[in-house]
Amino acid sequence: MTIANKLARAELVDMVPYQSARRLFASGDSSNKTNSTANKKVWLNANEAPGNGDYQVISENINRYPDFQPDNLLNAYSNYCGLERSQILATRGADEGIELIIRTFCRAYQDSILICPPTYGMYAISAENHGASTVKVQLKNNTLDLESMKQHVGKVKVVFLCSPGNPTGNLLPKEQIIQAIELFKDTAIVVVDEAYIEFSPEQTSISLLSQYENVIVLRTLSKAFALAGLRCGFTLASSDIITLLSKIIAPYPISAPVAEIASIALSADLEKMTQRVQDCNTTKAALTTWLNEQSWCSEVFASDANFVLFRCKDNNEKTRIFDLLVSKNILIRDQSKQLQLDNCLRISIGSEQEITQLKEVLS
Ligand SMILES: *Cc1c(COP(=O)(O)O)cnc(C)c1O
Repeated sequence: MTIANKLARAELVDMVPYQSARRLFASGDSSNKTNSTANKKVWLNANEAPGNGDYQVISENINRYPDFQPDNLLNAYSNYCGLERSQILATRGADEGIELIIRTFCRAYQDSILICPPTYGMYAISAENHGASTVKVQLKNNTLDLESMKQHVGKVKVVFLCSPGNPTGNLLPKEQIIQAIELFKDTAIVVVDEAYIEFSPEQTSISLLSQYENVIVLRTLSKAFALAGLRCGFTLASSDIITLLSKIIAPYPISAPVAEIASIALSADLEKMTQRVQDCNTTKAALTTWLNEQSWCSEVFASDANFVLFRCKDNNEKTRIFDLLVSKNILIRDQSKQLQLDNCLRISIGSEQEITQLKEVLS
């Protein structure tokens, strides 16, 4: 055994890290480089938005540490979401928010989180990294199984809900979110992960923050704002919760260039985001209709996000479709290993042209 493996926390040695889209297919050729050659890949596997932004960065104060929470960024997000600055924490992506929440509320090797699979993979991975255990209560018809969740009241510290869900795509009914929050009112924090909420903004749970003390809402600029490469997300909660999270986050989590670009995206460029969302919803509707007509497709999941999940007739068809696309340099995401998602694949809504390309390969 190497000295590294001997000294490491034993459980880390065999742990499998999050299989991100970029780890599964390392992007030697970055999709966005328009000048790259023939085997340029079409990335439809990570729910990124198509198209590049156009930002100028001023490097004036780059010799200085940034503010802990840069003013320009916090003001821009406060204006965007309508909450006070004291209720907002900017983080390195929503993923860092997930990690901070678990580290803040779960004692290692004692406490647990609750997740509702099929769901986003990072909740369980972050919990495992920290030594917290994960309780699973599966979704029932893509909605919460509140009866089963009830049995875990008092036994978990954090409950992760994802609405719109990834990889399922649909919003959870608002009444169910409220019921879950009430159920865990005195015993657990309920996190509503709204990574995709810009695709149906009127469904946000933000208003619940003023009614319940045990709620956290997670947001990101990685999806509708087309800034996955920036690594910028937001944790929204009571100022008490934000104060706690602020104690364990790194001292300078948001670099000055990130704050600059993100502030522009959230203010001057805000309309670009809403236009992008509209275009995405149009392309998504057309793709959904098309998928429903294909003989190899047995089910298309309703989507309130920027991707579509569908089920293939059987495992052979799933493998055939996936491999055929890979052979044409089109990458989508295999979700078939998730609970309930046998033979399911997920397509991110890229540009209209990218989706046309995908349809042509599969026709
Ligand atoms: C993409 C995604 C995140 C992570 O977003 P980042 O801000 O890029 O870290 C969190 N939750 C869900 C459900 C996601 O799909």
